[in-house]
Amino acid sequence: MSDEKHLRRAIELSQGNAEAATGGPFGAVVVRDGMIVGEGANRVITDFDPTAHAEVVAIRAACRQLGTYDLSGAVIYTSCEPCPMCLAAILWARIDRMVYANTRADAAAIGFDDAWFYEQVALPIDGRALPAQRLLGDEARAVFQLWAQNPDKIPY
Ligand SMILES: [Zn+2]
Repeated sequence: MSDEKHLRRAIELSQGNAEAATGGPFGAVVVRDGMIVGEGANRVITDFDPTAHAEVVAIRAACRQLGTYDLSGAVIYTSCEPCPMCLAAILWARIDRMVYANTRADAAAIGFDDAWFYEQVALPIDGRALPAQRLLGDEARAVFQLWAQNPDKIPY
């Protein structure tokens, strides 16, 4: 019941973009202890930001609201099954659970083909469409070692 209420809010946020054509028709809310602590609609077009997907916008809002980078104990409600970037953001945020409405296939049917991204992520790095070249491993690894040895670091 509560799940449906929060998911309806996510769908409502997506509807605003669908009607005003201000961004992709996607909305998301983050809930902790039964309260909405962050919400967002897709802002890719309005913010000139390809990473401003609804889930990322909602996670950023929730973290600002709560003053944390760790959303353990929270649930994310999203109007559509997330793309790989948003799935990773949800995992990085340590969110406990996800509830969604539209599927990846539904998104693909209106031109948002995240399926290709999921395929790319699963490929080895030299098998992807994105050319990738590794350089300066020793120099970068030295910085990792510096961080690993820093007693003031905050692991997350
Ligand atoms: Zn996304």
